[in-house]
Amino acid sequence: MRYILLLSFLTLACTSMKVPANKPINRMVAHRGAFKKNGFPENSIASLREAIRLGCIGSEFDVRMSADDSLVVNHDEHYHDLDIEKTTYSALLPFPLSNGEKLPTLREYLIAGMEDNRHTDLVLEIKPSGLGPERARAIVDRVLACVKEVNPSYNIVYISFDYSMCLRILEKIPMAHVQYLNGDKNPDQLKEAGIRGMDYNYNVYKKHPEWIPRAKALGIVLNVWTVNDLTLMNDFLKQGFDLITTNEPEAGLKLK
Ligand code: MG
Repeated sequence: MRYILLLSFLTLACTSMKVPANKPINRMVAHRGAFKKNGFPENSIASLREAIRLGCIGSEFDVRMSADDSLVVNHDEHYHDLDIEKTTYSALLPFPLSNGEKLPTLREYLIAGMEDNRHTDLVLEIKPSGLGPERARAIVDRVLACVKEVNPSYNIVYISFDYSMCLRILEKIPMAHVQYLNGDKNPDQLKEAGIRGMDYNYNVYKKHPEWIPRAKALGIVLNVWTVNDLTLMNDFLKQGFDLITTNEPEAGLKLK
C-alpha cells in the first residue's frame, strides 16, 4: 500500500506539474482479478496475471480455508457443491477451474503475483468463517504465516467483512494495511482501530456522504466496490476516491 499511497502522492504531484491533462489516473483494483473481458474464471491465476499485465494498481482475490487447514483462493463458500470449510484440500483438487487451472492455493497465488509485477498490489480478502471466532482467528493467523513465508515483492492490502478478523490482523501485525468491507463503521471508528481504509459498497457512500470528507480528513484510504458503471466510476474518481474496485478495469484504466 505504500506504493498506492506513493502513487497517489505522485499523481497529485504530477497533476501540479502539468503533465498532459489527458493522462489516465490509475485507481483501478481488479475485482477477483481482471477476469471478465477475457472470460477467465474469477480468482484464477490467469485473471491475476491479466490484472498485472494491465497495470492495475491492485488485484483483489478471496481466501478460504479447507477442513485440513489449506488456504485456497475462491469466492463462494462452496466449490463444486462442496463446503470448503468442511472439505479437505485433496477432495477439492479433482475439480479444475473452467480454464483448466487447478484451484489455486494462497501460496501459489501469492507466488504467481510476483511474476513481471511492477505496479500491482494484491488485495487479499479473508472470507468470514462459518465455524466460529476461534476458527476465524486461526484462518487469519495462517494467512499471515503464508504471506510471511512467501515474502512477496509487492504490497498486500488485507480486506474483510469480518471486523474481528481485521482486528486480529492488526493484533498480529500492527503495521498491516487493513481495509474494512462491511459498511457499518464510520471513519473515526476505523481510525481509532488502526484500520487504514474504508472499502464499502457504493450504496453506503450514498447513504453516508459525510463519511467521504471525514475519511479524507483522517487520512483513511477511500475504496469502493463493485463499480462497473463508467458514469458512477467517474463520479467516485471526481470525489477523490483513492481506489475503485471493479469488474471492468480495462474501461476504468482509460478514464481521465
Ligand atoms: Mg472479494
